Amino acid sequence: KLAAGEYGAEQPGRVIAHFGRTLEVQDAERTPVRCHLRANLEGMVTGDWVIWRAGQDGSGVVVARTERDSVLTRPDARGQLKPVAANIDQILIVFATEPTPHANLIDRYLVAAEATGIAPVLVLNKVDLLPEGDGELGELLARYQALGYPVVRTTTATEAGLTALREQLAGRTSVFVGQSGVGKSSLIDRLLPEETLRIGALSEESRKGTHTTTTARLYTLYESNMDNENSANENKVNENKVNGELIDSPGIREFGLTHLDEETVTDGFIEFRPFLGHCRFRDCRHINEPGCALLNAVEAGKIHPQRFASYRRILASLDTDR
Ligand code: GDP
Ligand code: ZN
Repeated sequence: KLAAGEYGAEQPGRVIAHFGRTLEVQDAERTPVRCHLRANLEGMVTGDWVIWRAGQDGSGVVVARTERDSVLTRPDARGQLKPVAANIDQILIVFATEPTPHANLIDRYLVAAEATGIAPVLVLNKVDLLPEGDGELGELLARYQALGYPVVRTTTATEAGLTALREQLAGRTSVFVGQSGVGKSSLIDRLLPEETLRIGALSEESRKGTHTTTTARLYTLYESNMDNENSANENKVNENKVNGELIDSPGIREFGLTHLDEETVTDGFIEFRPFLGHCRFRDCRHINEPGCALLNAVEAGKIHPQRFASYRRILASLDTDR
């Protein structure tokens, strides 16, 4: 038992939500603890690993932050990039037959993901709506798979449609991004136990009540019992078996739709990398220059013409952004 003003031993924790200088930190047992931030510290975001100490009233104090493996940023009102979440292992780019992804949308998301250094994963949702033989989307997927990107096929229509996704989420911290209407909310609803959703909604309400901005929240994913034939209870989860973590917020879902610069776009096409720096002209823009290594690679079938067309289209859109 701690006396007033006394603090317990230093212990590791992870930020699961934050409201200004008040943090919700979970301890090693995943018990949430309200913490305040020691005066010399700032800029904690959801997903940060921290060192904290318990106080005598059940709350705690965060005294240090562990170095981040990765960070997701968003531009603030003045266009300055601000971290919004940290220590993310993968970005799940969700798309679907409906709404159909327009030509370079997936490439835009991939470029934005590559710029963060966080591994992108493509999630094709609503496979229940796919035509026989998968149609054009099937071809598109095969192309990304050939580039080495993992592709997961899902549907929220059946429990079996979520199995591959659960496997992809296991043991990692993930975020879901993608166009509105592709099924992100539906997928997340199916992944989270009802209890978690209720708590999330409650804290959302109390936050709105205090007029603070909506920040990201980290959710623990548990193994589902639904695969178990004997389980009579639908939507029941095995609370003991953690199956990964999910960080979510409306802002994070919109990731990838921000401004990109030319260098980021070029680097974001991973199959271009072996050819970069090999053009005849150092300042080659890969449009129609003689001795362009990228154009030659397209010609030689080493870069898919549609990916190259997509690259050109994204660059052209940057010019109009300016
Ligand atoms: P979000 O905007 O990405 O969060 O998308 P929502 O989760 O709100 O889903 C948009 C619409 O797609 C809703 O009407 C869902 O019921 C529907 N939807 C989501 N997942 C699936 C799916 O796997 N199959 C089908 N057919 N519809 C789905
Ligand atoms: Zn070139």
